[in-house]
Amino acid sequence: MSAPTDLIRQAVYRRDQGRCVACNASDLTFQHRRAVGMGGSKIRPGATDGLALCMTCNRECEASMQQLALSYGWKAKRWTDPTKVPVYYPHEFQWFRLEGTDRYPIPAAAALDMMHAVYGDEYFNWRDN
Ligand SMILES: [Zn+2]
Repeated sequence: MSAPTDLIRQAVYRRDQGRCVACNASDLTFQHRRAVGMGGSKIRPGATDGLALCMTCNRECEASMQQLALSYGWKAKRWTDPTKVPVYYPHEFQWFRLEGTDRYPIPAAAALDMMHAVYGDEYFNWRDN
């Protein structure tokens, strides 16, 4: 996946309240929820594929925060349909289902069901670590 269009980038920042989803900072980058493939791709990411994260958290999602990012849906495995992977917004204490530039609050139990449907029991390993 390549860089998002400016329109998508701005829409994602707006959807995510203009704050880093992880730490609430206001300097934003576009996090690709699904890993950009080897050699990249010409396909531009849609809004559901993106998340507003600050530079530090974006970097840490590939490092120390990797499991946390997977368990909260900030990252999604490359083969997933990102609309099926809910996202946790810790500063709102709320799970959301993303649909493009919109997000819909869902109960934690529903988020768990969605995660389990996508990842199976592997999901529990990320949560417990
Ligand atoms: Zn951050």
